[in-house]
Amino acid sequence: MAIATLNPATGEVEMTFEPHGPQEIENRLARAQSAVFALRGTSFADRAGWMRAAADLLDDDNERIATIMTREMGKPIGAARAEAAKCAKGMRFYADHAEEFLRDEVFGDPGSLGASRAFSRYEPLGIVLAVMPWNYPLWQVIRFAAPALMAGNVGVLKHASNVPQSALYLDTLFARGGFPAGSFSTLLIGSGEVRAVLEDPRVKAVTLTGSEPAGRSVASIAGAQVKKSVLELGGSDPFIVMPSADLSAAVATAVTARTINNGQSCISAKRFIVHTDVYDRFAELFTAAMGALRVGDPLREETQVGPLATAAGRDELAQLVDDALTGGATALTGGAVPEGVGWYYPPTVISGVTASMRLHREEAFGPVATLYRVDDVDSAIALANVTDFGLSSSVWTTDQREKARFVSEIEAGAVFLNGMTISYPELPFGGIKNSGFGRELAAEGIREFCNLKTVWEA
Ligand code: NAP
Repeated sequence: MAIATLNPATGEVEMTFEPHGPQEIENRLARAQSAVFALRGTSFADRAGWMRAAADLLDDDNERIATIMTREMGKPIGAARAEAAKCAKGMRFYADHAEEFLRDEVFGDPGSLGASRAFSRYEPLGIVLAVMPWNYPLWQVIRFAAPALMAGNVGVLKHASNVPQSALYLDTLFARGGFPAGSFSTLLIGSGEVRAVLEDPRVKAVTLTGSEPAGRSVASIAGAQVKKSVLELGGSDPFIVMPSADLSAAVATAVTARTINNGQSCISAKRFIVHTDVYDRFAELFTAAMGALRVGDPLREETQVGPLATAAGRDELAQLVDDALTGGATALTGGAVPEGVGWYYPPTVISGVTASMRLHREEAFGPVATLYRVDDVDSAIALANVTDFGLSSSVWTTDQREKARFVSEIEAGAVFLNGMTISYPELPFGGIKNSGFGRELAAEGIREFCNLKTVWEA
């Protein structure tokens, strides 16, 4: 894939970039390695100061970087501004909390081990490669970079090939804030160059956010090199509505949860599993609200749903829907590629999906919701767990016993009760099953790329 900005609203190439060749990759890795040593002599307070300065710069740049994101991958401009603001907040969060998250853990009874003292210390690993997707061009990167740099690690970014301007913005952000040169840098490379970078002995670990095939490939390279990996992969999150739920709140949230980021979020609710007692009413309200969304130019303030990021992504989504419709499912709204320029796809609700359809098993990465009717909690849980993914889930009920069952029986990295899944810097984030392993954010996220060194003294 060429490294280029293709505006999804027009389909036009706006800017192309020459990929970094072997010499430039080497220069950047050498600079990154120097930064490993430079960061060793810094304190949490030093790094927190630079991180806060970088967050301030990001806030100053909000409109400029939001416009770049919208032009590169099509998210509505308001959402792009909110993403940049969330990144600055996440950076300040780690500036404030890194030291406390990485404090030595002192063992309280060293005498029982024949020691005068025993403790564990979190130390940085060195260079961590980040392979990142286009859907949140800033946030996916920052949620790795902020904790990594605060821990004293160095980040090297291989961003998705369709968001090079976002990648180059990130290339300089941390150095502008004051971090030593090379502490964070972008490699403008295609996915074919990832293996060589990951096999470089200076690179100690990798984090990948993206599709399952990319995750399998990168994790197997890391495994062969005995290097740590964290994988944040796809999801097909259930959104379960039980009879006791506040139905209008559930409908309003369902619409946002399915169409946020033009439906291209790993933690979007994708499968709507509704108890039969409220199914008809939910289907009617949800379909009407999805059909009423304003689809259009993502640079216009009033747009709620913009185009899909890539032509290939829209083709894949259309094929999933067509497969279901051919197999007998019904489009309650949407369901067809519109005429005209740009990679638009309408908000779509599909009912009558059966186990043989691809839409039942695969991730719909766009504004397409599937609706299922269930008779009880058992069938809701069984359907929620039928997917190979296990990222998050959203459950709507006021019944305490039902809540307890959903929390303990849903196979996912998170359960959100009466709300939609959101990633918060304060809470661990990640999946199980084919959604990946490891955690980002909170204390767990910053500890993923640390050596927990045990110290014992006689
Ligand atoms: P993708 O095709 O896997 O791309 C993600 C990144 O991986 C890009 O930088 C891509 O580079 C690179 N890549 C692709 N194949 C690779 C390979 N074989 N070896 C090394 N690198 C490779 O995913 P996407 O289509 O951009 O993103 C959509 C997917 O990401 C969805 O499944 C979504 O659910 C998932 N996602 C998960 C999370 C999460 O937190 N769990 C968050 C967001 C998205 P190129 O661009 O150069 O191909």
